[in-house]
Amino acid sequence: MKLVRYGPAGREKPGLMDSGGNVRDLSGVAPDIGPDELSPTSLDAIRAIDAEALPVVQGPVRFGPPVRGTSKFIAIGLNFADHAAESNMPVPTEPVLFMKAPSCIQGPHDEVMLPKDSVKTDWEVELGVVIGAMARHVEARDAVHFVAGYLTVNDLSEREFQLERGSQWDRGKGCDTFGPIGPWLATTDEIPDPQNLDMWLEVNGRRMQTGNTRTMVFGVADLVSYVSRFMTLLPGDIITTGTPPGVGLGMKPPVYLRAGDEIRLGISGLGEQRQRVTAFRLEPAPASRRAEPSTSR
Ligand code: ZN
Repeated sequence: MKLVRYGPAGREKPGLMDSGGNVRDLSGVAPDIGPDELSPTSLDAIRAIDAEALPVVQGPVRFGPPVRGTSKFIAIGLNFADHAAESNMPVPTEPVLFMKAPSCIQGPHDEVMLPKDSVKTDWEVELGVVIGAMARHVEARDAVHFVAGYLTVNDLSEREFQLERGSQWDRGKGCDTFGPIGPWLATTDEIPDPQNLDMWLEVNGRRMQTGNTRTMVFGVADLVSYVSRFMTLLPGDIITTGTPPGVGLGMKPPVYLRAGDEIRLGISGLGEQRQRVTAFRLEPAPASRRAEPSTSR
């Protein structure tokens, strides 16, 4: 099942992608796609519905983040050995953990805005894991039962803020618009093996990243287990699992994003994102900063 949220930023409705690629309106069935809808029981209830009987959403739609209510957007650094090498950093013996501010989350095709005074904004295609059930100290062999599904993430990163301004990476990872997710959340039944997914990213039509999740240092199950030892994972939380080589930082000389660039990226089975890069501006606030509806549960 491929779950989406569509409509204007902050006012998205729940939907699903049918087998023909149409968006079907789920709002008569579920109030949203958020923490309350991600449990195995709730997903089974949605799965039991005849998708063909749901209304087709007409016309071009904006895709929002396919999950609402993410309390933690957790990221894993240097999880591909060849990416660690291009970053001039050792392959970690234990996962590198950092946080992306949940306020950076936005739809898959929303504009990416360069931070104020940024000259080193970079791209990273990544597999995102969406938590479906509260997870505390879970074993890797049980981890899949705590996962609702998977989605494509662009882990945008400002390398100067990340690496040249102190010891923590977080300040270069959570800037507004730095967390495009989607277009859809593929539930685990769609992705039986998350460790064999092709990943790619292009900037202005030029292929930059080509990888596969099979070369991760720590796999999805190990990462869910690992993170759950340090913090309680809640439904809607996202763990983004690291990027293969081909980031701008690793080029000789480095190449960074500029206003007007176009990024395209995707992961097999998880759909494609496309973002136009814009210069910094204070107003209007980007899609990621627009208020969520206060009327949602
Ligand atoms: Zn990353």
